[in-house]
Amino acid sequence: MSDPHAKAHSARDLLRELFPDTHREIFGAPNPGDAGAGAPTLGLYPVADGRLALVHGDQLAEFTPLDPRGKNALHCDLCHYTRSRSEARLYRVVVAARRTRYLTLCAPTGPCQGRAGARGLERLAERIFPIEAVYAE
Ligand SMILES: [Zn+2]
Repeated sequence: MSDPHAKAHSARDLLRELFPDTHREIFGAPNPGDAGAGAPTLGLYPVADGRLALVHGDQLAEFTPLDPRGKNALHCDLCHYTRSRSEARLYRVVVAARRTRYLTLCAPTGPCQGRAGARGLERLAERIFPIEAVYAE
């Protein structure tokens, strides 16, 4: 899905435009007294319409859920558990103008990220980033 308001901004700008609530949640409101400043942001965050935003530093990838097909068990690409159809979702990630990746992730994502840990998230991010700017049309 393309957003006519989104231009080739940085991922962080994009996140702020598309998902202002998520942006606030991830990067926090301007508050210099907050702890944890300086640590690179890395995580998957649920956003609107069942999508997920993978954020790594100032990079952002949007995971769009797909309708599941077939009856095979799913293998989570983050925590590597085998999941039934009802326990996981298939996502599409556009990483370049003509390149799309498909990922299977547990639902909900919180416990999955807990199992995968920071290392697992880093490996996932390495498979996705860098993303070419495909938002400008
Ligand atoms: Zn998982």
